[in-house]
Amino acid sequence: MSAIEIPKPDPRILARRAEILAGLAALVPPTSLITEEDERRAYETDALTAYRRVPLAVVLPETTEQVSRVLTFLNQEGVKVVARGAGTSLAGGAIPSEDAVVLGVSKMSRILDVDIANRTIRVEAGVTNLGVSGAVSHLGFFYAPDPSSQLACTIAGNIAMNSGGAHCLKYVVLIDGTIVELGGAHLDAAGYDLLGLIVGSEGQLGVVTEATLRILPLAEGARPMLMGFQSAEDAGACVAAIIASGIIPVAIEYMDRPAIKVCEAFAHAGYPLDVEALLIIEVEGSEAEIEDLIGRITTIAADYNPSGLRISQSEAESAAIWKGRKSAFGAMGRLADYICMDGTIPTGQLSAVLTGIARICEGYGLRVSNIFHAGDGNLHPLVLFNANDPAEQEKAERCGEDILKLCVELGGCLTGEHGVGIEKRDLMTYQFNTIDLDQQMRVKTALDPQWLLNPHKVFPLAGRPV
Ligand SMILES: Cc1cc2nc3c(=O)[nH]c(=O)nc-3n(C[C@H](O)[C@H](O)[C@H](O)COP(=O)(O)OP(=O)(O)OC[C@H]3O[C@@H](n4cnc5c(N)ncnc54)[C@H](O)[C@@H]3O)c2cc1C
Repeated sequence: MSAIEIPKPDPRILARRAEILAGLAALVPPTSLITEEDERRAYETDALTAYRRVPLAVVLPETTEQVSRVLTFLNQEGVKVVARGAGTSLAGGAIPSEDAVVLGVSKMSRILDVDIANRTIRVEAGVTNLGVSGAVSHLGFFYAPDPSSQLACTIAGNIAMNSGGAHCLKYVVLIDGTIVELGGAHLDAAGYDLLGLIVGSEGQLGVVTEATLRILPLAEGARPMLMGFQSAEDAGACVAAIIASGIIPVAIEYMDRPAIKVCEAFAHAGYPLDVEALLIIEVEGSEAEIEDLIGRITTIAADYNPSGLRISQSEAESAAIWKGRKSAFGAMGRLADYICMDGTIPTGQLSAVLTGIARICEGYGLRVSNIFHAGDGNLHPLVLFNANDPAEQEKAERCGEDILKLCVELGGCLTGEHGVGIEKRDLMTYQFNTIDLDQQMRVKTALDPQWLLNPHKVFPLAGRPV
C-alpha cells in the first residue's frame, strides 16, 4: 500500500456537502461548479499519480472577485481548499482530500497587458507557461523560466512551486477573501518582501489570480553541444569545473546510459550510445560569443576524457537534441514505472551524489536512471519499479527518501523545483529543526488561521498547531 498518509476526511464536512454545494452555486456561474463524481475524478490526483482522492467539489472561477467570494464562503464554513493550475505537480502538491474543494484557475487564462517599454507582461494565473512566451515571441521577447512541462503547466503553479521567476504578483486572494496586491509595478517594492513569501508557498498562504512577469529579449542565437563521458564521476567533475570557471551556460543537462538509450530510441537525436553519461550544454549570444564559449568549455572538458563531442550545426539538429531531453520523462515510461525525485546539491558534490545514489538503489535492489539539470545541481533520479506491486512501490518510495536525505547530508536540499507537496512533507524534519519549522508554521497560521489552504501538504502532520 501507499506509504504517505492522507488523513481521513472530516465526516462533519461530508455530511454538509449538499449545503456547501448550494452555497458555492450562488457564487459562481453554473459552468464553473463541478459536482458530479465522474467529472470530479478528473481532479483526483496530479502527476504523482499513486495517490488519489476525489474532492468534495471543483470550482473554476472566472474572475478574482469570484475567487474572493468562494474563499470567503469556504473560510466561514471551515471547508478546506486546494488551489490548482494544470495538475502537473510531481510532488502531490495539487492532490485534494475528500473533504476539500478544488479551486482551479484554468478559466482565468487571459493575457491582460504586454508592456515592452518596461519588459513586463500581465497575465491571469491560468495562462500556461508556454503561452506567456507565445504572446511576446513575435516582438522578440520570451519568458525565461521553462519547466519541461511548460506546454501544460500554469503561471499559478509555477509561482506556487517557484518554477518561475515572477516579478510581481498582481493579485493574491487570502483565505478570508481579502484581495491583496503584492510587489511593485517595476523593479522593487516598498515594505516587506511579501512577494518572496508567496512565491514557492505551494498554495499554503493564498490563491494567486494574476501576475506581472518579467520578459527578456530573445538571444541573438543559441547552440547546444553533446559531450559523452565514460563515468558519472568524470561528467560530474566536468560540470563542476565549467561552473567554477565562471562560465554560465544557458543549460547543462545530464543523462545517464539508460536515459540516453531510451531517449535516443524516441527522438533520434544522435546521442552517443557508447558512453556512461551525456551532457547537453547550451550557450547563447552572438555568433562570436557562442564560438568563444564553446572553445572555452571544450578546453575545460578535455581534462575529463570526453568522447562523442558534437556541436549542433543547424536549427533542426538543435531541435532534435532538445526533443530527446524534453521528452525524457515520458520516454522513460517505456522502460518501467518510476518515481521522479527532485533534490539539489552544490555542483561540487555531483560526483559524490551520483556514487551515493547508485549505492542506495543497489541496496534496495532497484534500478535508477539519472536525468537532471546539472548546471544548478538540481537532480532528478528516476527510481524504477513495478507499480502493480505495492511492496515494490513502498520500497521505491523509501529508496527515494534515502536519496533526498543524502542530498541534505551533502549540503543540498529536499527540493529543487517540484516542491514539497505530500511527497516530501514527512522529510521536512531532515532539512529543518523544530525551531525553523515552527517559524514557518507561524507564518502559515497568520495568513490561514484554520489551516484550510492545501491541507496535509508541506508540514509534517505531527507538530502542527491546528
Ligand atoms: C513531465 C513533467 C516535467 C516537469 N518538469 C519540470 C521542470 O522542468 N521544472 C519544474 O519546476 N517543474 C517541472 N515539473 C513539475 C510541475 O510542472 C511544476 O511544478 C509546475 O509549476 C506546476 O504547475 P501546475 O499549473 O501544473 O500546478 P499544479 O500541479 O496544479 O499545482 C502545483 C501547486 O501549486 C498550487 N497552486 C496551483 N494554483 C495555485 C494558485 N492559483 N494559487 C496558489 N497556489 C496554487 C497547488 O496547490 C499545488 O501545491 C514537471 C512536471 C511534469 C509532469
